[in-house]
Amino acid sequence: MRPTGRLHLGHLHGALKNWVRLQEQYRCYFFVADWHALTTDYANTKGIRQSGIEMAADWLSAGLDPKRSVIFRQSDIKEHAELHLLLSMIIPVPWLERNPTYKELVQELKERDLSTYGFLGYPVLQSADIIMYKGNKVPVGADQAPHVELSREIVRRFNQVYAPIFPEPQVLLTQTPKVPGLDGRKMSKSYGNAVFLTDSPEEIDKKLSRMVTDPARATRKDPGEPEKCPAFNLHKIYCTPEEIGYVTKGCRTAGIGCLECKKIMIKRVIEELAPIREKRDALEKRPAEVEDVLAAGNRIAQEKAIETMKEVRGAIGL
Ligand code: SF4
Repeated sequence: MRPTGRLHLGHLHGALKNWVRLQEQYRCYFFVADWHALTTDYANTKGIRQSGIEMAADWLSAGLDPKRSVIFRQSDIKEHAELHLLLSMIIPVPWLERNPTYKELVQELKERDLSTYGFLGYPVLQSADIIMYKGNKVPVGADQAPHVELSREIVRRFNQVYAPIFPEPQVLLTQTPKVPGLDGRKMSKSYGNAVFLTDSPEEIDKKLSRMVTDPARATRKDPGEPEKCPAFNLHKIYCTPEEIGYVTKGCRTAGIGCLECKKIMIKRVIEELAPIREKRDALEKRPAEVEDVLAAGNRIAQEKAIETMKEVRGAIGL
């Protein structure tokens, strides 16, 4: 995950909860992808290190366990740069140019300078990140599957040109619930529409109380349709079947007002975030602890990376 600073409900339901489950089943590697942040914003690097620490603190608070998983910082493992360089020698440029996310982001982020070598090559860096640890499963949503496919192609090419060192990584598809932001768009820090894991109960209540709803409910007397209501996506995640039934009926018959309806969900959100916030508060009091976790993770990751790079150099004949 790129170092985004404080994490929000979108991250919790879109990635973190799944990661916490995966560490029960697999040996997992989670890293602060700080070099990746440079691929789309090389000029704005102020605070990047602190953002990584804040993010890792949220990971730990949400349940990532450094005893089970390797939690580290990409830029501390220089072997990723070497593998990226070596892979870049064998990747045909058209493979990168046809990457759908590349084209989309160039269209979307018009204000950024994306005409860089680093941005075109970010999937090569991603591939290096994955195969460095001989990763065989990558937990992603369907929109990220083409990246993993590209990693597989890169692996096939490396294995064919030099020696069969790397396993082909497989997509571990993850179904995630929709988590819209307060304005109904995708929840994102840059849109200013996020509920952060570290928000206080008062902040959560204030933010979610003004979350957009079905526009058909212009007044209290107008009936609405929950499926057209952004806030209802959170009810679906957080509320009991009885509460969902009550809210659905109340909305369609104008039996309840939107604020009353949202308060039912808000209570659940506050309950769920309470233990996360408690752990986060404890970490705030011991700031060195997150750095220690990353340092310990770096050591484990580096050991494996050194081993892999020995094999890679040997296969190439360097
Ligand atoms: S009553 Fe609830 S589900 Fe219906 S529009 Fe209002 S907030 Fe959304």
